[in-house]
Amino acid sequence: MRDMDELFAALQRSKFRSRFRLRPKEADYLKQKGLEKILQHTREFIVSRLADAEPANDGQQTPIKNHPVFIAQHATATCCRKCLARWHYIPKGRPLTEPEINYIIEVIKHWLIGPDM
Ligand SMILES: [Zn+2]
Repeated sequence: MRDMDELFAALQRSKFRSRFRLRPKEADYLKQKGLEKILQHTREFIVSRLADAEPANDGQQTPIKNHPVFIAQHATATCCRKCLARWHYIPKGRPLTEPEINYIIEVIKHWLIGPDM
């Protein structure tokens, strides 16, 4: 897990990661549901798609559109276990711990409410 400020500075230096933005449809969905509800979805996505030691289709389990959390995951490199290992120093090949899940939710929340919005 990584310091938030340092992480976001690094993400901003990545041409690929810094390009992601919510489209109007996704931004509207976020507004309509509210942050609390969206963060519940975030937890569900992480638990079902990332938390296992060997998640199904790892590297391809996160769609690139239609839910604000998917966009946030690509923007913050929390989209798959490879990216979590490379960007967040969370090792592959074992289940995510509860503190790691909470950290990932924090990272996604930070992006969703950040100055990019
Ligand atoms: Zn990834």
